[in-house]
Amino acid sequence: MKCTFYGVCGSYPSINSLASIKHTACVSVETDDFLLIFDAGSGIINLGRSLPNPNKPIFIVFSHFHYDHIIGLPYFSPLYNAQYNISFIYPNTDRLKTVLPKIFDSDFFPVSFSDLPNSPSVHDPSFCNQFGFSLTPYNLNHPGGCFGYRLSVNNKSVIYATDNQLTPDNQASFSSLFNDCNLLIHDCYFFEESQAEHKSWGHTFLPDLLSLALTSKIQRLCLFHLKPDIDQDYIDAMNTYIDSTIQNNQSSLLATVSFDGFSVDL
Ligand SMILES: [Zn+2]
Ligand SMILES: [Zn+2]
Repeated sequence: MKCTFYGVCGSYPSINSLASIKHTACVSVETDDFLLIFDAGSGIINLGRSLPNPNKPIFIVFSHFHYDHIIGLPYFSPLYNAQYNISFIYPNTDRLKTVLPKIFDSDFFPVSFSDLPNSPSVHDPSFCNQFGFSLTPYNLNHPGGCFGYRLSVNNKSVIYATDNQLTPDNQASFSSLFNDCNLLIHDCYFFEESQAEHKSWGHTFLPDLLSLALTSKIQRLCLFHLKPDIDQDYIDAMNTYIDSTIQNNQSSLLATVSFDGFSVDL
């Protein structure tokens, strides 16, 4: 199983061309049998270009429908090739069926959803069980709601938890939800910004995320959904903070700030 990060920014694509973060939310998980894509931010455009052939089923899993998680979908080239077998996954299929035509509405895009050469099917996460893996959704703490997912395949598990705000009140419950995973991909929009000024933004601060990861059974942590207007110095400072905190806690946790093109083999 290989996880590849095609877009790690939250909100909008990075305006700082020197930083290693560029596109908005998109992560792929590929095995010999399938390709699963978490979210369709602008990162999904490069992913679509890099697909070699339509020999594996593709599952596009949505966390929620804020722009940074859907903006690349109309430009995902396999949607224009009927040979690809694409399924859209979201726990509330009625809502997804309502949202998809809106993304392709003529006010925003010239091709309507019903005219796509490839007509993807819409399913809830239990649909994945027949393909040899499970996808368990749960609610995250984000304005308007957001779903996180635990993907389990071949005794390995990956958790995708974008757009989530950890607080002292919910830390224990998220710690038990995230426990025992090989890779946690988690929102980390803030580092040293004022907590008081960003109380209900629905995004997490680095110290809160690290303290959760250090007290849960997590092998590897990738910081994700980063603030788009940060520069490489800011990212380097985050990594330095991560390394020293892990060292001070004498932990074996592997943790890093993710970037576009980064990948993890599990
Ligand atoms: Zn977002
Ligand atoms: Zn959001």
